[in-house]
Amino acid sequence: MVVPVPAVKPVGRFAPTPSGRMHLGNVFAALIAWASVRSRDGEMVLRMEDLDTQRTSGEFAAVLREDLAWLGLDYDRETPPQSQRSEVYDRYFQQLQDMQLLYPCYCTRSQLHSVNAPHLSDGTYVYPGTCRNRTDFPADRKPAWRVMVTDKVWHVEDKVQGHYELNLATECGDMVVRRADGVYVYQLAVTVDDGEAGVTEVVRGMDLLSSAPRQMYLQELFGFPHPEYGHVPMLLAPDGRRLSKRDKDLDLGELRKHISPEQLIGTLAYSAGLIDKKCPLSAAELAAEFRWENLKGDSIYLDAANL
Ligand SMILES: [Zn+2]
Repeated sequence: MVVPVPAVKPVGRFAPTPSGRMHLGNVFAALIAWASVRSRDGEMVLRMEDLDTQRTSGEFAAVLREDLAWLGLDYDRETPPQSQRSEVYDRYFQQLQDMQLLYPCYCTRSQLHSVNAPHLSDGTYVYPGTCRNRTDFPADRKPAWRVMVTDKVWHVEDKVQGHYELNLATECGDMVVRRADGVYVYQLAVTVDDGEAGVTEVVRGMDLLSSAPRQMYLQELFGFPHPEYGHVPMLLAPDGRRLSKRDKDLDLGELRKHISPEQLIGTLAYSAGLIDKKCPLSAAELAAEFRWENLKGDSIYLDAANL
């Protein structure tokens, strides 16, 4: 049982994936993460989430650092990128192995997605534990590795979304921690990285809310305290579409050609309910008046034409 230790000083993080320019959704999450921590004189950590080495590059990482600087979002230290940490992840993997919580999974993609597999109403797939007691091990394939989960409800008290809960046994199933190609999955890498960096506050997009209970389970297994969570609303186009990396006109490469950081931050802060009047605002000015309770929990509609 891990008892959360009250932090003397909050530690937050930026965890971008260096696979392209930041789009508005990334900027928004980074801005809130920074303002929350800096409003309480806390520390910010940067790390590059580049587990997918095919899509990510050092050039994009350099551009991301420059974009953060342009926004006025500074940080105190950068921890090594995930692509360089597989030996560290190996140690945590071994720890799970020693706890006898891991087993190899040989299920093929088509077996996992067959019509007989249990799916939840939101389309999420629940792994039914097919390989938990497997005795035939195909010699021609390498397995993925899964960690056994327990029948327990995890409660997240989110700073924005309020109470959220998930039972990993019935709503997720045993989780893959290492893929068949040897690459560690996001959930394990993030848990280890945040834990080792002493992160006390995780702020990210609402689409990652269901990752929180998965990471809380791994935190407990690894002996890390649980951080606080704030899952910020998604930014939507006026037609309700989620803004994404495909909206090239809304990535920083394009936006920086015709908008100042203060205009961008002011618009985001106003749209999110953080300030009463739309006006240019620096990141430092936002931090000075940042209050979690002012942040709207529902989706934020942004009209690119009004930026
Ligand atoms: Zn399996």
